[in-house]
Amino acid sequence: MTDNCVFCEIVAGNIPSAIVAQNDEILAFRDIEPAAPIHILLIPKRHIADSAAGLTREQGALLGKLFELAARIANEFNLNTGWRIVSNVGQGAGQTVFHLHFHLLGGWNENNTGARIDKGTGS
Ligand code: 5GP
Ligand code: ZN
Repeated sequence: MTDNCVFCEIVAGNIPSAIVAQNDEILAFRDIEPAAPIHILLIPKRHIADSAAGLTREQGALLGKLFELAARIANEFNLNTGWRIVSNVGQGAGQTVFHLHFHLLGGWNENNTGARIDKGTGS
């Protein structure tokens, strides 16, 4: 466990969370401040990297399992109109928790153009 890491504390059970699914390696729980009708975070239970920038091919199998679980959750939550996986790297991209995590977002209605990803200003 990495000190002062809120997601390590959640994995340890020291901070409560609304768990959606888990296995030996991965925990999925609801984001406390949802940015979509359904907003779930998927994290490796071990603090293997601060962000996706710290990943190497060594974590390939784990990432495959994480994406497999994401697709299963999307199915269970009936995210029929589509869903998105986002991983912010660095503060400029909006990263606030430095324990590798993936946002699973969905549940928009099918006409919702507001679900488009922010492309920024380009500046
Ligand atoms: P980031 O901004 O690093 O890409 O994503 C971190 C996410 O973690 C944010 O969407 C934020 O709402 C969520 N978050 C931060 N602290 C907690 C917490 O204690 N519990 C839960 N469930 N989510 C949290
Ligand atoms: Zn951590």
